[in-house]
Parts: sequence; structure tokens; C-alpha cells
Amino acid sequence: MSDSTSPLDLTFLGSGNAFGAEGRAFSSFVVNNRYLFDCGPTLLQQMRKADIQSNDIDVILISHFHADHFFGLPFFFLDAWRNQREKELTIAGPAGIEERVDGLLKLGYSMIPGKLKFHVRYIEVTDGLEAEAAGLQFTASTVVHVPELMCYAYRGQIGGRSIVYSGDSTLCDGLIRLIPGADVVVLECSCGHEPVHLAPSDIAEIKSHTSPGARVIVTHLDGHARSGDFDDLLVAQDLARFCL
Ligand SMILES: [Zn+2]
Ligand SMILES: [Zn+2]
Repeated sequence: MSDSTSPLDLTFLGSGNAFGAEGRAFSSFVVNNRYLFDCGPTLLQQMRKADIQSNDIDVILISHFHADHFFGLPFFFLDAWRNQREKELTIAGPAGIEERVDGLLKLGYSMIPGKLKFHVRYIEVTDGLEAEAAGLQFTASTVVHVPELMCYAYRGQIGGRSIVYSGDSTLCDGLIRLIPGADVVVLECSCGHEPVHLAPSDIAEIKSHTSPGARVIVTHLDGHARSGDFDDLLVAQDLARFCL
């Protein structure tokens, strides 16, 4: 059980960008073995390596509908079906999340939806929404990434500890407003000058808004980091675990 002094236990299933830079798996991490932040299509391989079971996951937060963050869900459902999952699963994400998941399942494993033995609770997030699921209190905040999608950052509260996840984002007010007071901040970062992602200079700006003692982890990496880009930051690797 977590309490106000329990560390947050983060396992990075993947730490790469949409192009699989450096052979990294798609960006995704699990907190306290229960809360999955994003769900790329390398999900199951990485869960096997990390010895995390789909039945242990209570909540999945989806930041946006780009495939590197979202297309792992059919595999999650496939595994849950084989494991005869019975406990409720909560999936939170942008408007249309339930229809998107249903569509992916119909495309990928059309026999599954009628056979599942568990209830899926969907939460459509909006800017500033506050919700609770399986001991995770969270809020969503609209961030600027690409114009064709609604994209969200999340701030989660587990016991007395808090974590912010940028999703994919540029430097924007929606992300910065979540930062003060957070214990752990997980930020995507591109060092290759991609305008729809955070650059190292943006990370430095965001870090200036953190509270004393906060830890910043960069992920969703593109293989273009230069010496000094990640000074004073924690850098995610596939299967890296941080207890913070
Ligand atoms: Zn991405
Ligand atoms: Zn994206």
C-alpha cells in the first residue's frame, strides 16, 4: 500500500519516439505496477521483460491518439482475455476514447469484445478534468502538440505523492501549470529540432518551475542528444526503474 511517504515506483516499458530511434520501444511507463501511462504497440514484449502482468494494471491513461502512444491497447485486451481478467479496467483519454478503442479491437481482434469478462470504465478527459480511479487521483490539461489531435498532459496523485506526465507536447501553459509542487515530472524530449516536441531548452524552462526536490525524467527520445542536453536530469531507458 502506498502512503504519503511511499516512493513512486516507475518502470519504463519504452523510452523511444515514434520512429523507434536507437531501437527503443515506444514511450510508456507503469507507476506502482498499477497505473499505465500510454500504451504503444511494443507493450506486451516490454511487460514480459519487466515481469508486469496485464492483470496488475488498473488504470490506463492515454495522452493522445498517435499510434506510438495508443496502438498497444488491442494487445493489452488480447492478453487480458487470455488471462480471463475479471476486475474492472479504467481507460482515460481524449474525447472519443471508447469509440477509438472499440475500432482498434474490431480491426485487430474482432472476436474479443464479446468474450471479455471484465467491465471497462471509460473516462473522456477535458481540460482541467479531475477524476479518480483505483486510488489514482488525476487531472488532465490540454497541451499543444499537433493541430489535428486533442493532446493531454496528466498530473496524478497517489497517496501524498504526485507525478506529472507531459504526453507529447511543446512548451505551453497547459503543461507548465501542472509542474509546481509535483514530486516527479516525466517529460518527452526531442533533441533533433522537431517543432511539435519539447527541446532541451524547453526542458530547462519547465525545470525552473519545479519545486525543490522534484525529479525530472526525460523520455520519448530521438537519439540526437548532445553532451550537456540532459545534465541534472534522469534519462529513461527501456526497462529502467526509478523509485523516487
Ligand atoms: Zn509520440
Ligand atoms: Zn504524438
